[in-house]
Amino acid sequence: MGMALISLDGTFLKLNSALCDLLGYDETELTTPSPTVRTLLDQIHKFNSLGSSLPSTSTDPQRLEVDYFHPTGRRLSLKVSISILLDDNGQPIYYFTQFENKTLIREMETQLQVVNSHLLEKESSFLQLLEELPQPVLITRGGIVLYANSAGLQLIHAESLDQVLGLSTMDIVDYSNYEILSERRKKFNTDRTTGSVCYLINCLNNQQKYVDGITLPIIYEGNEAFIGIFKDISEQVLEDERLIQSEKLSTAGQLAAGIAHEIRNPLTAINGFMKLLRSSERMNDKYISIIESELKRIEFIVNELLVLSKPQTTHISKPVDLLSLLEQVTTLMNGQAALKNLKILPVCTDHSIWINGEAYQLKQVFINLLKNAMEAMNHGGNIYIHVQTYDREARISVQDEGCGMTEEQINALGKPFYTTKETGTGLGYMITQNIIHNHGGAISVESILEQGTTFTVSIPTIITPEEPIM
Ligand code: ADP
Ligand code: MG
Repeated sequence: MGMALISLDGTFLKLNSALCDLLGYDETELTTPSPTVRTLLDQIHKFNSLGSSLPSTSTDPQRLEVDYFHPTGRRLSLKVSISILLDDNGQPIYYFTQFENKTLIREMETQLQVVNSHLLEKESSFLQLLEELPQPVLITRGGIVLYANSAGLQLIHAESLDQVLGLSTMDIVDYSNYEILSERRKKFNTDRTTGSVCYLINCLNNQQKYVDGITLPIIYEGNEAFIGIFKDISEQVLEDERLIQSEKLSTAGQLAAGIAHEIRNPLTAINGFMKLLRSSERMNDKYISIIESELKRIEFIVNELLVLSKPQTTHISKPVDLLSLLEQVTTLMNGQAALKNLKILPVCTDHSIWINGEAYQLKQVFINLLKNAMEAMNHGGNIYIHVQTYDREARISVQDEGCGMTEEQINALGKPFYTTKETGTGLGYMITQNIIHNHGGAISVESILEQGTTFTVSIPTIITPEEPIM
């Protein structure tokens, strides 16, 4: 540390070699100081004459920071502590000064300031960018909203940022989606991945919307946070539901002819037995039970048709007996098949197979596959339904002897509105695929032109349920 005694009029009286090194001059040079040293001394002197208003007995060091130009041209930042030495009468005699080189620290501080202001600048231009983004953006930390851009405010129908700040994601995401939310949090905690999201949300005006988006971890205002960029897909979801409904109605319409045919047979039987009953003297139990069973059959078919054309709003998974489901579907489709001179031949195992799912949706899958099979066969023939189980999976194949498909047709399968039929909707297969995926299954296709096509659905099975539903 550089030290010196300085006279009250501001000249060096005594100094150590560390100070000589610091200032860049030797001791003799410093007794007749260069202009820069002179300036330094003047600053100290001036500081002290200002400080002399302090009680002159004060021996506490005063601190001063000065810039000093070293003879090599470098600009140094010096910290000077000055104490006043007093004589026996308490009169100041000279200053005792200590010099510390603070240049490095000061330089680092300035650099830090520059970096900091760059960061602030970056953060503010980042926020500006977010503000102008047409997509809704929310930033959250610990599930609490810290920021929303104007598109974000619009999305949840907030009038101002105040209404949104501090809200919890649990206030925004619908109760029915809490599980998705907590799964995502768990997943992030284990493998640090976020990925895409799809939620049903509750807006501030109580409207519900479907949103799709991605979230990413970011540093926001110095701490870890999450940024979510969203898209309102409510229209799309509604449109999908409308499409499914139109396809359902068209299926129902197309099945109507077959169903009329299917109902005609029991009706003919009922008619016949009614005539017999009328002509016989006594009630005939056998006739009556035949009539009853035929009526049940009609009731079943009409009910199925109604269910098929009704929008399905509740989605509840239950254990479903696959074989009886297939039987119900074939019953429904037999009429249509007979009209086209086709036979549906189920080849099933004799034990029951249970899967977890929504019966009506699963029926829709097989109705769609059978309908396509029948539409591919214009000269009669057979449609085989094979059911096999492997490990924990059931495989159901629907095999037709129809026109088959080209490579191009196979590739286009599942694209909405792709159809080669004059009255087709091109939605059946897409819906089929969706339902199967929602049930954790898969579907594959094999086809030979002019020979036929086989669709194979594989779906996870469950152990026989305690409470059989159907
Ligand atoms: P749609 O039946 O209304 O045409 P789908 O989505 O059910 O719509 O089927 C799309 C297309 O896939 C059909 O138009 C047809 O070209 C082809 N396809 C589907 N199943 C079969 C099949 N079993 N045999 C031949 N072609 C098929
Ligand atoms: Mg179809």
